[in-house]
Amino acid sequence: MELNGLNSNHMKRIKDSIRSIPNFPIENITFRDITTLMQDPEAFKLACDEFHNRYKDKKIDKVVGIDARGFVFGAVLAYSLGVGFIPVRKKGKLPFKTLSEKYSLEYGTAEVEIHEDAISKGERVVIIDDLIATGGTVNAAINLVKKLGGIVVECAFIVELPELGGRNNIQGHDIFSMVQFDGE
Ligand code: AMP
Repeated sequence: MELNGLNSNHMKRIKDSIRSIPNFPIENITFRDITTLMQDPEAFKLACDEFHNRYKDKKIDKVVGIDARGFVFGAVLAYSLGVGFIPVRKKGKLPFKTLSEKYSLEYGTAEVEIHEDAISKGERVVIIDDLIATGGTVNAAINLVKKLGGIVVECAFIVELPELGGRNNIQGHDIFSMVQFDGE
């Protein structure tokens, strides 16, 4: 069965492969652990194929992956599309000249960086991470891509937590998620 172009059996298979850990890393957070998806070869392939099929005809020039779990799916997608992979990393990890972007967390702030020569003006980019919660992290990645003159075609995730409203915090960009955990 197809729902929004997604095969519902595949999406169920992917969702069932994700482990939920209550009260990690802090009290009252349920951590959605995608390592169990990655170690399951069938679920991992379904998820990677889903991204590939979605972007294969979108004239993507670069895939941006967000530190760290976005690197896994982003790198596979870049390889399968035959385009370059760009890491957006936590501050202080990239060795060359960088642009950086601060964003708010529930408590305090965080900062991510991109190499200043990673994307050329007008390049079409898809941004990949494992999960969107409040949207703060991907918003910072969007700003970095735009500062370099890149065009954000879409931001894509394995998991969305709709109750945290991330989708609504991203202005003017399309958000795609394979599975959603809503009050579960
Ligand atoms: P946010 O910036 O609020 O959208 O948070 C997204 C980032 O935090 C992603 O890189 C996720 O890997 C991580 N994250 C946030 N909440 C969770 C959660 N409940 N389970 C697993 N990862 C999470």
